[in-house]
Amino acid sequence: MNPCHVCEEPTKNKCSNCNQVSYCSVQHQKQDWKRHKPSCHPFKIDHNEQLGRHLVATRTIKPYEIVLKEAPLVRGPAQISAPVCLGCLNGIEAEDHIECEQCGWPLCGPECKSLDEHKAECRLTKDRGQKVNVQEFGGPHPLYTCLSTVRCLLIGETSPEKASKFQELESLESTRRGSNQWKADLVSIGQFIPKFFKTQKFTEEEIMKAVGALQINGHEVPTTDPSHVAVFYTASFTENSCLPNLAKSFNKNGHCILWAPHEIKKNAHLSICYSDAVWGTADRQRHLMQTKLFKCACDRCVDVTELDTNYSAIKCEDRQCGGLMLPTKADDWNGSWRCRECHKQVQKHYVERILERAGKDIQSMEKNVENGLKYLKHYEKWLPPQHFHMSEIKILLVQLLAKDQKELMVIPDDRLLLKLNYARELVELYEKLTPCEVRTLGTLCFELHSAIAEQTRRVALETSLSPKDRLEESLFYVDKCVNYLQYESDIFIEGHMLKQARINRDALRMVTRIS
Ligand SMILES: [Zn+2]
Ligand SMILES: [Zn+2]
Ligand SMILES: [Zn+2]
Ligand SMILES: [Zn+2]
Ligand SMILES: [Zn+2]
Ligand SMILES: [Zn+2]
Repeated sequence: MNPCHVCEEPTKNKCSNCNQVSYCSVQHQKQDWKRHKPSCHPFKIDHNEQLGRHLVATRTIKPYEIVLKEAPLVRGPAQISAPVCLGCLNGIEAEDHIECEQCGWPLCGPECKSLDEHKAECRLTKDRGQKVNVQEFGGPHPLYTCLSTVRCLLIGETSPEKASKFQELESLESTRRGSNQWKADLVSIGQFIPKFFKTQKFTEEEIMKAVGALQINGHEVPTTDPSHVAVFYTASFTENSCLPNLAKSFNKNGHCILWAPHEIKKNAHLSICYSDAVWGTADRQRHLMQTKLFKCACDRCVDVTELDTNYSAIKCEDRQCGGLMLPTKADDWNGSWRCRECHKQVQKHYVERILERAGKDIQSMEKNVENGLKYLKHYEKWLPPQHFHMSEIKILLVQLLAKDQKELMVIPDDRLLLKLNYARELVELYEKLTPCEVRTLGTLCFELHSAIAEQTRRVALETSLSPKDRLEESLFYVDKCVNYLQYESDIFIEGHMLKQARINRDALRMVTRIS
């Protein structure tokens, strides 16, 4: 029994959404709802020595449930950014913008002038006694490097509550101090802000702590063009896993939506991938070490086979063997590699040469079907079919082989089969390896459903076989597509795909019901 949150009467009843707060009656729950609502989530914030603060599910979370929807605590231009409007954060061009008459920072139009978020740098620039003068619009502009930090430092001027939340965030200042990135940030931000804005308001330590908090907790938010950076308070306590249980989407206002593509059991830790789950383990680990300063030891990272997918493996140096080579020691991608069959060992530089070339060839490749197929043919000598470089090319091919419905109708049979087979192979791979990479999975399921539907149409024209089973398979994948993409905003390609997928799904439901 726990005391009712309103009257303290002992009770067994709890709020069924969060399982966290007790109420003696529906009446008292209703009465308290306005106050309770902001903290009513299906998780609690827990704390331990090893993880610091982290989120734990307080009940079973159903598939597709939104776990957290949150507005940013603070947002601003990316650290390396061309001039953007300081109201809406979208890019601006030399011929098409206005200047804020208070501070001189370029804005895209009058409607962006009065937005609250611009007030921080606007006032600080005014106090400087001289307006800024941005003239170069073509590329990254050094003045923009410090702006998000300025907004963090001045967060308390609009909201003391936000300021105290920002103070709680991890900055890893002592770990960062002295690193090359830290030294570069000291010059371009730490020493720059007092000099440029002619202010004694902030100590160097305060500034560098804010820089650290932004880098450790910042999310790249693609709702503007170019993307901006934002910090979300509660979401920042979600721990990292390269095999996470939450997907991250953004609505058109740049609010973050964390949701569960699959059921999450009560008491499970909630996690997102801080890196890119579609990358191989060595690349993810390097990225996490560089940007978030830790070595990941999640279930996927400690298993060199990456759940038996061999996503990072290369073929044995001995062509006759047919085995796969992976790091000899699970936690050392920079040491020797060994064949799992014949136990032959190679040194790291042998592996590096292959992977570097394979990566560079993708970067410099003109992206079309013929080049993609040539790439697969060439690299099959060294890389197994499911390798991340091969998979990247196959994702590309699935999208390039018939880019739309019109092309799909006329693509040759053998190419249609190729599209279908690659899509099927990739859906299977990524549902196992990256079950929360919803945009990749949704896109692949869409392509697979349309390839199956088109193939069925062709078979039906030639034979008179009942296509019912095939159409049901097509429906199965378009249904999955809708589930994976359901929170994608229509400002993104995936949001448009979602609309089309819903139309196709309804049509397929009709057809399969009739036939
Ligand atoms: Zn009560
Ligand atoms: Zn609740
Ligand atoms: Zn604007
Ligand atoms: Zn201004
Ligand atoms: Zn990991
Ligand atoms: Zn071998």
